[in-house]
Amino acid sequence: MNPLIQLREDIAARRRSAEEATREAIAAAERLNPTLNAFISILGDEAIAQAKRVDARLAAGETVGPLAGVPIALKDNICLSWGRTTCASRILENYESPYTATAAQRLIDAGAIIIGKTNLDEFAMGSTTERSIFGPTRNPHDHARIVGGSSGGSACAVAAEIVLGALGSDTGGSIRQPAGMTGIVGFKPSYGMVSRYGLVAYASSLDQIGPFARSVADAALLASVIGGHDPRDTTSLPDAAEPMDGLESQVESLVIGVPTQARSGANHPAVAGALERAAAAFASMGATIVDVDLPLTAAGIAAYYIIAPAEASSNLARFDGVRYGRRAQLKPGEDLMDLYCRSRAEGFGAEVQRRIMLGTHVLSSGYYDAYYATAQRVRALITRDFDRAFKGDENARGCHALLMPSSPTPAWPIGEKTADPLAEYLEDVYTVGANLAGLPGITIPGGVAQGAGTGGVDLPVGVQLLGPARQDVRLLRIARMLERSLGS
Ligand code: GLN
Repeated sequence: MNPLIQLREDIAARRRSAEEATREAIAAAERLNPTLNAFISILGDEAIAQAKRVDARLAAGETVGPLAGVPIALKDNICLSWGRTTCASRILENYESPYTATAAQRLIDAGAIIIGKTNLDEFAMGSTTERSIFGPTRNPHDHARIVGGSSGGSACAVAAEIVLGALGSDTGGSIRQPAGMTGIVGFKPSYGMVSRYGLVAYASSLDQIGPFARSVADAALLASVIGGHDPRDTTSLPDAAEPMDGLESQVESLVIGVPTQARSGANHPAVAGALERAAAAFASMGATIVDVDLPLTAAGIAAYYIIAPAEASSNLARFDGVRYGRRAQLKPGEDLMDLYCRSRAEGFGAEVQRRIMLGTHVLSSGYYDAYYATAQRVRALITRDFDRAFKGDENARGCHALLMPSSPTPAWPIGEKTADPLAEYLEDVYTVGANLAGLPGITIPGGVAQGAGTGGVDLPVGVQLLGPARQDVRLLRIARMLERSLGS
């Protein structure tokens, strides 16, 4: 089942109108927002106007793009030239972007209808979508639990079937982790595949935009629309977007690596079970399953939580109360320095302030070599370990993809880890590696933790696949093989 592809075909064949699909999505967003809080803003009027234009073009027999009439939601750190772009932060609460991000523009050019902007952890810093000035987003499977994060609003909007596709951003797992916790597909393309122009920067060497959807093929369609070179992003790869076709074709002589570290005793039993079930599914398709050693997996967390805050401290320096967003009211006798300090103290939440301080510290003279330079060396070693796993050497066969959980545990109760940021950071152990090494990664539904939620409801559990950099299409094919074998 590829519900997004089905919807665009229904609209293109005029079995359904874009306006009807859009009105339904907006009505669902409005109905569910008081409970789920997936959306920061719902852009109803603009969406309906866009949908009417699509219907008019279809009625006139004009050719339309591959997403014509399909309602889509955007994480609220992706700029649109209408509505607000808040990053869930007080400092940007009323910010109106003068331009639209490339990824969003490509959706619009393909005929997609942007129905709203979704909730996130402030500036995408977090793993839960609790750290938003608009309050937490709730998991549609269990309203007392987190939805995952930081792209939790987008994951929620797709999991609750408000929309069939949404965009998030993934700096250390923010697409793959919430996809796992809500039982949907989340894809982080290789670094440089999707333009970051118009994505409010958190950690520029790690950030990547990617899609949420309900199937691998639906996610692949969205990725092919938003991907490809953009002269406005100097880190965007030079090649044109790869056509994401041939997803049904098998990868021959498939070798799947399972990192020893992914079989950690710290995994929730349902997470461990989903991993083994996925490995068995690959084996039953004739794949060879090999053990892979990624000894720096745990060190990846330490390196990530030095590099990401370091880059954040620099990126967020632009929010000074003068050029962007909220400005503090000066009291008599206060000067420009007070304006900067108070605007930032009032505008940023506690976690963002923690990361700015941490990042400034690790970059400061005297600490730079001990922390930042060391973290960069660890990053290089982690990239080398992944390279070796994919290429193989005299002792081991190279693998086409690595299989691991998307997070060690299913969704936890809202509030459980907010007082302990380190406990939350550790939950990113399986996702930060892909960002440090620039690899593509995808989460697909892997099963459920039976009865683990409030009142005994089942909680979704994801499985994640990583591939070599720029082998995104092959990774999606492998994910499709697993999806088919697990039964959809
Ligand atoms: N949880 C990680 C962090 O807080 C990743 C966030 C992200 O990918 N945007 O930095």
